[in-house]
Amino acid sequence: VGIPVKLHWSFGLILFYVLYIGNSESLNLEQTVWFAGYVVALFFCVLLHEYGHALMARRYGVKTIDIILSPIGGLARLERIPKKPSQELAVAIAGPLVNVAIALVLTAIMLLLFDIDTLLRDPLDLTNLSDLKVFGTATIGINIVLFLFNLIPAFPMDGGRILRALLAIKLSRVQATRVASYIGQFLAACFIALALYQGLPSWGLIGLFVMYTARNEYRSVLREETLNNTALQSIVKQDYELLPSTASVLEALTTAEKHQSTRIVIDTAGSPYDLKITTIKYLRTIIVADSDLSLSQISAESLPTLAANTSIAQAVRSMHKTGTEVIAVIKNGQQLLGVVDRDILSSYL
Ligand SMILES: [Zn+2]
Repeated sequence: VGIPVKLHWSFGLILFYVLYIGNSESLNLEQTVWFAGYVVALFFCVLLHEYGHALMARRYGVKTIDIILSPIGGLARLERIPKKPSQELAVAIAGPLVNVAIALVLTAIMLLLFDIDTLLRDPLDLTNLSDLKVFGTATIGINIVLFLFNLIPAFPMDGGRILRALLAIKLSRVQATRVASYIGQFLAACFIALALYQGLPSWGLIGLFVMYTARNEYRSVLREETLNNTALQSIVKQDYELLPSTASVLEALTTAEKHQSTRIVIDTAGSPYDLKITTIKYLRTIIVADSDLSLSQISAESLPTLAANTSIAQAVRSMHKTGTEVIAVIKNGQQLLGVVDRDILSSYL
C-alpha cells in the first residue's frame, strides 16, 4: 500500500532472544523453530496494528513516512498528527481495533476447525506450538494482550492519545495534553512503585520510560503551540539602522556606531516596499577605498519581508525554503517593525 516498512537494526536481537528462550526452556530444534514462527506471527500482528493507524490517517489526508519495527514494538511515523480531536481519536484507536479484529477472525477460524473443549484442554506452553490449536490460541491471546496493553492511558501507548483526544473535545489541545500527561505519569509512578515492591528492575525501567515519554509529550505540544501562536512582532530586534538609499556610506557608519548597531537596512523607496540589508563590517571595508559612495551604489542583499502577524513556525518554514538568514518584519505592508534572523528563531526551537 505504498508505505515503506523498516526494521530497526536492533530487530536482529530478536533472533538471540529466540535462541535464549529456546535454551533456557530447553526446547529442541523443532520447538525452537516453532517458537521463532510464533514470534514472527506476533510481529506480523504488530505490523497490521501499525497499518491500522496509517490507513486511518490516510483517510484524513495524513501521509505516513514509514513504519518502523523494533523489538519493543512498532511505530507508524505520521507526517503530522491530525489536530481535530475526533480524527486523532480515530487514528489512535484504529491500531488496537486491528488486534481485536485479528483475535475475532482467528477465534472464528479456530471454532470452525476444532470444538471448544479440545481448544481449552491443551496447555498453552512453548513446547507444543507445533500444535495448530495451541499456536492459534496463543496468537489470539497475544492480540488480546496487544489490545489491552495499548489501551493503557499513558503516552507513548495509544491509550495516551485516545485519552488526549477525548479530553480535547472539552479542553484546548495543550490543556488536554497536560491532563493526559499527568495521568500517564501517575500510572507510571504506580507501576514503578509496584516494580520496586516486587523487586522487578526491568519493570521499573519501563515505568521510567513511560514517565519520561509522558512528560516529553506535554513539553513538545507546549513548544509547538508557542511556535504556532507567537507572532514575529513580539520577537523582533531593532539592532539595525534604517536609512534611505540616498544616504552615504559614511553617514550610515556614523549612525550605526552611535547606536552600536551591526546592520544597516536600506529603504530603496521602491514600490512595492523594497528593502536591502548590509553589515557595518562590510561598509567599513569599502569606505577605505571610496568615502563618497551612497548606499544605492554598494552591493547589498535584498531583504525578504514577512507580515508582523506571521507565526514563528511559519517564519521558520519560509526561511528554510528560501534559504534566507534574515528577514524584515513589516506591518501594514510597509511599516518596518524590526528584523528577525536565524539565531533568534533557533532560540525558540
Ligand atoms: Zn498503536
